Amino acid sequence: MNWEPWTGCYPFSDGCKYCYFYGPYSKRYGQNTISKTEEFDKPIAKTKKGTDRIQSGKIVATCFASDFWVAEADEWRKDAWAMIKSRPDLEFLILTKRIERFEAGLPQDWGDGYENVNIGCTVENQATADERLPKFLGFPIKRRFIACSPLLGPIDLSPYLSGVEHVTVSGEAGREGRVCDYDWVLALREQCERAGVTFWFKTTGSFFRRDGAVQKVNPFKQGGLARELGIDIRGDRKLF
Ligand code: SF4
Repeated sequence: MNWEPWTGCYPFSDGCKYCYFYGPYSKRYGQNTISKTEEFDKPIAKTKKGTDRIQSGKIVATCFASDFWVAEADEWRKDAWAMIKSRPDLEFLILTKRIERFEAGLPQDWGDGYENVNIGCTVENQATADERLPKFLGFPIKRRFIACSPLLGPIDLSPYLSGVEHVTVSGEAGREGRVCDYDWVLALREQCERAGVTFWFKTTGSFFRRDGAVQKVNPFKQGGLARELGIDIRGDRKLF
């Protein structure tokens, strides 16, 4: 289940270079103007029968067509947090490349974090990991995950895995997608295994290098190929 309280984004770092949500693709896939959507109040919306539109127990992927901490949404984020707090029966997943803005609009009663909020810090290479993850680990967050997406080079996450529940890895999709090397993925998996962190190789991306050969992977097969490799490390929680 997705919840897009606002939409639109613009590049922030190298991992954004071929994002669908701005630039030449924006007309087809989204927009680079940040705007509130019609489903802004989806978590508290009711059906005609008066029941919750989002049924209890769902996992709600939030702001996947934008960034929750994009500055243009600062005035809306307070209401978004209030809705999230009002639904402790849902699990919210929030991914960001702008983790340094985490405290912008943070609710006063946040404390050490809401139980139903999973914050994911996205990194694409060692430089962004070294820059963002120390900040990420310094903020009061109850449930943390790291998304290596798109994976653009080898990353050593070992210094940053304490207190992190989960890591996802994705190659870059699209005609211009940069190569994702399986050795980088396996190294991340090993780091997770050693740290007792669950791991999901979500997608190979469009150009996947294995044993030195680069394979072009059809968009509809990238997730399936990653799954076929059978390297995921599952845990008790079924968020991912
Ligand atoms: S932050 Fe995310 S949504 Fe925004 S441009 Fe970058 S990749 Fe796209």
